[in-house]
Amino acid sequence: MVFDEEEEQQKGEKDLDQIQESDCCGNGCTNCILDNKPQPSKRILLAGKRNILLTYTKFRLIEKATHQTDDQVLLLHFADAGDDVAEDTVLDIPPGHHVMLRMGSLLRPYSPYWSDFRRREFRILVKLQPGGPMSRHLAAVQPNDLLEFRGPIGNYTNDPSLTKCIFIVAQGVAIAPTMPLVRDVLENEEDMSRIWHLVCARDLEHVFFREKLLEFGHSWNYRCCLYLPHQQCDSPGCQEAGHCVAECQELRRSLRYKEVAKVARLDAIELASHMNPSIPGQRTLIVAGDSTFQKAIQEVAATALAIDPAHVYLL
Ligand SMILES: Cc1cc2nc3c(=O)[nH]c(=O)nc-3n(C[C@H](O)[C@H](O)[C@H](O)COP(=O)(O)OP(=O)(O)OC[C@H]3O[C@@H](n4cnc5c(N)ncnc54)[C@H](O)[C@@H]3O)c2cc1C
Repeated sequence: MVFDEEEEQQKGEKDLDQIQESDCCGNGCTNCILDNKPQPSKRILLAGKRNILLTYTKFRLIEKATHQTDDQVLLLHFADAGDDVAEDTVLDIPPGHHVMLRMGSLLRPYSPYWSDFRRREFRILVKLQPGGPMSRHLAAVQPNDLLEFRGPIGNYTNDPSLTKCIFIVAQGVAIAPTMPLVRDVLENEEDMSRIWHLVCARDLEHVFFREKLLEFGHSWNYRCCLYLPHQQCDSPGCQEAGHCVAECQELRRSLRYKEVAKVARLDAIELASHMNPSIPGQRTLIVAGDSTFQKAIQEVAATALAIDPAHVYLL
């Protein structure tokens, strides 16, 4: 059965009515589910399908891997556990949106870095927090386990017909939701926006999706700069300084073709160095990270990049 647009809209509205105070995870998310109720997207309405995520749905863990450079970071791949291969359902997680994981009464948000609309699968990157209740559960989950998710939650939408200068600032594992945002722009030939992806990580080993960032770098409209304040090699000069020095040959050798990295924090001066005032386009800032990081970047970016607060999005 194929849903028509009106029927799908009514179904979505019914699902929204079911959202209650208890659906909030209580962590003070910038985009709380209570203010950003999951809604059928334009893509869903056009496809005339139902988004299985609009209510809590069981997903099967089909793959669990530990990140190669940090054993406290997991890559989890989920697929819709529905037995019937429903032709009328899809999984819609718009770029920059997150999903809510429910285990008993425990709720925590996670941001997929990849999803497949028709196969109804998605992947998340999880940094296990010491003593965290959901971290304990996720450390123990095994392939074939069933977990419940709902969503999508968020408020960012990209209008590809509007040319923009998009500054995307990402901290640690929070780079995950920025990956679909970048792909969305680069894969649309009609989108003339340019992206500056400013990636903050402890060191080179903690730059997640490094290969993908290098692939993005083949596009004319993508620039990336890594900020690695704790990068440190074994050379006596860098050991003495407590981090790699500007002229460190070891760091230079570790970088790949056209990869740009700085052993520094991203501050107002660094942000301003990416401003490129002669490039036209509406200036937009997207910040992904914990709330302290988001606030700090938002404050300095207002002057460093001259961004209208209306065009700032905190994921
Ligand atoms: C919109 C949104 C999207 C998120 N997406 C992801 C994601 O894709 N991957 C992911 O790993 N996490 C993500 N998080 C964080 C995640 O929801 C949980 O908070 C985290 O997994 C820890 O849960 P927990 O129950 O184990 O510990 P909690 O009880 O939540 O936290 C345990 C301790 O760790 C601290 N802590 C929690 N999260 C962080 C953090 N990110 N950085 C530093 N300290 C922290 C807490 O302040 C607390 O002291 C997201 C959070 C938000 C608001």
